Amino acid sequence: MKPTIERKNMSPNLTLTQIKTIKAELLDLLEHLREEVKGELADQHGERGLISSAGTHDLGDEALADLDASINIANISRHLQEIRECQAALHRLETGDYGFCSDCGEQIELNRLKANPISTRCLACQSHEEHQHPEVRYASL
Ligand SMILES: [Zn+2]
Repeated sequence: MKPTIERKNMSPNLTLTQIKTIKAELLDLLEHLREEVKGELADQHGERGLISSAGTHDLGDEALADLDASINIANISRHLQEIRECQAALHRLETGDYGFCSDCGEQIELNRLKANPISTRCLACQSHEEHQHPEVRYASL
């Protein structure tokens, strides 16, 4: 259960113009991510087609192809995760929950939101999280 966070205002650190800007950025990012995933899926298909049609069943080549495929899959799943975060951020903009830290409920620094509009934590909580779970550090970059 998440504790209910008391709020005096709705996104008080954001003006209507800033909200519009952030929304446009999120939509752009979403579009970009969808294109990336589309490209990655096409690549995956193309590479596999090429390997099987070339008829080289050299173990080294297959291992390399497997490696390529798993890197590609890692990219795709990272991008899909970003798409979900993007959609969640857009939803929070609609509901007025945008710009608040999901951990402490404080406002997320505006510069932080500008740099990364899908941030869900303030700087303090993000550093804390990364300190607790150093293995997720990459995900937040
Ligand atoms: Zn916080």
